[in-house]
Formats: sequence, C-alpha cells, structure tokens
Amino acid sequence: TTPELTPHLQELYEVVLRRNPGELEFHQAVLEVFESLTPVARKHPEFAETKVLERLCEPERQIIFRVPWVNDRGEVEINRGFRVEFNSALGPYKGGLRFHPSVYLGIVKFLGFEQTFKNALTGMPIGGGKGGSDFDPKGRSDREVMAFCQSFMTELYRHLGEYTDVPAGDIGVGSREIGYLFGQYKRITNRYESGVLTGKGLGWGGSLVRKEATGYGTVFFADEMLRARGESFDGKRVVVSGSGNVAIYAVEKAEQLGATVVACSDSGGYIVDESGLDLDLLKRIKEVDRGRISEYAEQRTGASFVADGCIWDVDCDIALPCATQNELDEQAAITLVKNGVRVVAEGANMPSTPAATRVFLDADVLFAPGKAANAGGVATSALEMQQNASRDSWSHEYTEERLAGIMRGIHERCAASADEYGAPGNYILGANTSSFVQLAEAVLALGVI
Ligand code: GLU
Repeated sequence: TTPELTPHLQELYEVVLRRNPGELEFHQAVLEVFESLTPVARKHPEFAETKVLERLCEPERQIIFRVPWVNDRGEVEINRGFRVEFNSALGPYKGGLRFHPSVYLGIVKFLGFEQTFKNALTGMPIGGGKGGSDFDPKGRSDREVMAFCQSFMTELYRHLGEYTDVPAGDIGVGSREIGYLFGQYKRITNRYESGVLTGKGLGWGGSLVRKEATGYGTVFFADEMLRARGESFDGKRVVVSGSGNVAIYAVEKAEQLGATVVACSDSGGYIVDESGLDLDLLKRIKEVDRGRISEYAEQRTGASFVADGCIWDVDCDIALPCATQNELDEQAAITLVKNGVRVVAEGANMPSTPAATRVFLDADVLFAPGKAANAGGVATSALEMQQNASRDSWSHEYTEERLAGIMRGIHERCAASADEYGAPGNYILGANTSSFVQLAEAVLALGVI
C-alpha cells in the first residue's frame, strides 16, 4: 500500500515531474521522501507556505560540461561531466563523483537529492551535491584514467573550494582517481587546498577509516537496529551484494562482529562461500588486481560462482545491498522474506525498488534506507575535512570511535522521529522526516534563498 500524498505534496510532485522530464531515478527518490512527509506537512503548515520543500527539490546549480581526452591509441574521446550543487543551507556542497556509463543528469540529481538529506542526518555542517561522468573506467589503463581525470578537473575546478563544494568518490572513483583529480586541482590553482576533496590517500591529507567508513557504518547501523531488539550480528548469516569499497568493508565489519558472510557479487555474477568469505583473497582480487569476482571461486576450494544469477536467492538473516540503485526488486524481496531475512540495511544509494521496500515493511523486516545506513562514508569525509582544517591527523581508534558515535546518533534521530510522526520502527519515515525538519529550519532561517 502506497501512502496518500496530501494535495500540496501531490501538486509539488507534479511540478518535479514537469521540471525534470525522463529523470526516473530522481522522481523515485523524491516520491519516497514525499510519501514520508505527510505527517510533517500536517504538523507544520508553514513549510508549505514558504515553499521550503519546493526549494529543496530544485538544485541550486547544475553544471554540465564536455570532457575531451586522448586514449592510448591516440584517439580523442569525448565524455560528459556533471556536478549538481543541490543545497548549501547546512554547509558547502558535499558528495561524491561517480564514473559509470549509466551516468546522466537524472542519476546525478537523484544522488544529489539523497545526499542532501543524508548529510543533514549526520548532524554535520555539510550541504549536498553529486557529480560524475558517463566515462567507463573498466578496462582503461592508468594513463587513460589520469588523462580523463585531468580533463574532468580542468573544467570542474572553478566550481570547487573547501568552503564551496567538496567532492569525494562514489562508484568508479577511488583514491587513485581522487589523487589524479587533486593533483590537477593543485596545479591549476597553485594551492595545496587539502579540504577541497575527500577520500585522499593516507600520505597526503586523507583520513584513516575513510576507506572503510561506508561499509563499517552500514554494519554499525544494522547492529544498532538489532541491539534495539536485544540481538546482535554474532552467529548471523549475511549476504552482501557488490564487491567494491562499500561491500568489502561491510564484509570485514560483519565478520569482526561474529557473523558469517556467505556471498558477494559484481556485475558478472555472484559467489557463494559457505565457510565465510576469505577477506584477504577478496581484497587481493578486487583492490590489488582490479579483477573479477569469478576469480574468487577459481582460487578458493568450496566456493562457487554463479554467472548472471540473482544474489538475493542466497538465504540469509541479514541482507546488505552494497552495489547500486534498484539492484533489489520486488521478486528478490519476496524471496528474501520467504527465506527468513530479518534485517536489510542499504550500503548503496537506493538499491531497493519502491515495491521491494514495501515488501520488507509489510513483512516487519528491520529496514534501513541508504541515506541513514550508508551515511558513515560522507560523515567520515566531514571528519577528514576537520583534520585538514586543523592540519592534524587522528588515530584509527579515535576516528572509528567517532564514526560509531555518529552512526549511533543517526540511528537515535531516525528512531525518535519515526516515533514522533506516528510510525515507530519505520526508519525510512524516521530518516526522511528528521532530515527534512533539520533542512527546513536552516533554509527558513537563511531567508528566501
Ligand atoms: N559517495 C558517498 C555517498 O554516497 C560519499 C560522499 C562523500 O564522502 O562526500 O555518500
């Protein structure tokens, strides 16, 4: 059952559809928030009069640019670059860059919209933005990736600054790409402005725990949900989709907390390893060799590889979708529920379709939306900015403790807001209402902006 929108929300949703034709992922992200806001709209009629929600749906600035570069065969290639500076009421625009062939304005806008709410939820002084390109880094040499990053930054640099807009990584952008981007920014501006990008390497301004933060934070959040019911990760069977940065460190933390992680995936298929994933092998294949997940099954006895299958057919107590948007559909959700899943926490951004989400809520599965569960990544980016601003660097222990505290705080705010707006245990409603109120108050305080 889909909640009814109030007439004001319905009207505003139609405005969003009209202004952003064909941008399906953006429509989906907006509608999910609107569905949560009905109780807030009833309680705070002033939000409608001041058009604060309409302002939150319209990005402050949208930049689209050409990225020309030369490949290893000496040919010119042209890609399209994006940066959507969504909202800066709470701080400089903050959010990652995604390099993937599926990237177009609608994807960047959905991600920027989600990021704005996610960042508000962290309680830290960061606005929301997102960027990227339809460039496909797969199969490219180091030199090609560098040439692309340098060209991308040659256009983007004029929009950035540690008090203006601070990108980081997302799919296809890790510390190698952040290095090439930072190098080009530094060269063009002649400034060693560490706080202009996050996710930097540890030897040149990066923060300990940033790499691990999104995956760790997702597990911390799921652990908080379990704890509220007197349970823990210990002895649980876990499936994690994806095998990128988010997935690998979700596996690591889940295993540290005593769970057995039996499956993970990439775009070619998934692996099952009933004895629990061998993290060293996974890291070697994915982080060092930049290889395919099928190689895991070739190198580990007892593990199997399923090409092109659905990883959600593997039964588990806890499912952590850490791959990409809309990777978990209604059928997959029905299968998971039938197989007894108890907890779903989204490490990726919007990995569950709206129909899948409804299946989980109807079945009383503990469900954590990405904008709460995966906020540990951007929160640790904000910690990296703090370290850069004070020219300091913190220990692993201290930084991880800060991350754990931030995730506890997000869990508390979501739970309290769900209670306040009459939907106890609904973390989607809790996350959306809590971050909306935080954003709305800031937007109103700053005047008509
Ligand atoms: N791309 C990550 C996210 O989706 C991190 C963004 C950042 O650290 O700025 O939240």
